[in-house]
Amino acid sequence: MSVIVLVEHTEGVIKKKSFEAVRYAADIAQKKGTTVSAVVLGTISDSEMEALGQYGAQKVLHVANERLNELNARAYTWALFTAVEKEDSKIIITLHDINGRAIAPRLAARLKAGLVAGALSYPDLDKGFVVKKTVFSGKAFAYINITSDIKIITLMPNTFALNKTEGKASVEKLDVAFTDKDFGVKVKEVNKIKGEVPLADAQLIVSGGRGMKGPENWGLIEDLAKKLGAATACSRPVADAHWRPHHEHVGQTGGTVRPDLYIAVGISGAIQHLAGVNGSKTIVVINKDPEAPFFKAANYGVVGDALEVLPRLTHAVEKF
Ligand code: FAD
Repeated sequence: MSVIVLVEHTEGVIKKKSFEAVRYAADIAQKKGTTVSAVVLGTISDSEMEALGQYGAQKVLHVANERLNELNARAYTWALFTAVEKEDSKIIITLHDINGRAIAPRLAARLKAGLVAGALSYPDLDKGFVVKKTVFSGKAFAYINITSDIKIITLMPNTFALNKTEGKASVEKLDVAFTDKDFGVKVKEVNKIKGEVPLADAQLIVSGGRGMKGPENWGLIEDLAKKLGAATACSRPVADAHWRPHHEHVGQTGGTVRPDLYIAVGISGAIQHLAGVNGSKTIVVINKDPEAPFFKAANYGVVGDALEVLPRLTHAVEKF
């Protein structure tokens, strides 16, 4: 009856946001008087998995199949389903990211389980199993009671503090009988996106919009990002115009980010853009129009020409 949590890693290094999911699962497990079993897929060392004990996992179920090193929604679902059956789990947690969003609905259908996607709170057990999430592109909150026997939550990353303690999880191999059919597709080649900080995991982001005027000015965004150790992002029109690659586009139709700091440069702050970034802890807006809607969502604002403000900001960071 343990709480199951799916843990993600990149080439054998567990993602920080997965530690958060494990701690979240552990806090729920404690309230329910049970334990946490983390499910880890693909090639990874035992010592890396044992460290999950520091975030509250008692046990790791490791499916050591190298075909699971890349996301495959069908195979991941099947592996997670096998773990749930083995543990007779009633609560399953994944992250609300590209993996979790692909797997959780499939698993919910297979287990006939209720699902809250993009949870922002712990379940309120006094009211049943009520979980908070945003709706209408972040304009409102919904409180959803999961009434099914099995409950699935995808947790919005960067929502809770990482609380690290002493501990070492035990690692158990979990055999899952895969056939080619369980994978559905064969990955022939993986082209890794070049960039120092992956956007989805970034704690600091410098993002540019149409106010940057053209791709020739993007060096100013990159200079600041480099000095801060930040990832770069952009608004949709910027990606549509091929000033920047599409994987950098954030918003309703792009990626969702929840960094500690989001610096928006020359971006108007349309609701579709805010939908992807309004979970950021601190927002700084640089815009020459004092009436730009983004200022309403900002913690700090600079009214000025981005092409003049950015070099000065980068210089100030250098001196810091
Ligand atoms: P603009 O709206 O052109 O704004 C440019 C801003 O730069 C202005 O505020 C201006 O004052 C400022 N500026 C100009 N010059 C300077 C300067 N020299 N220095 C400083 N500031 C300057 N958009 C997204 O970003 N992500 C999405 O996922 C997304 N999904 C969408 C989905 C749908 C269904 C629809 C209809 C739209 C979507 N959009 C999305 C588009 C969105 O509505 C906006 O059009 C878009 O976000 C605007 O991009 P922008 O702010 O870069 O450009």
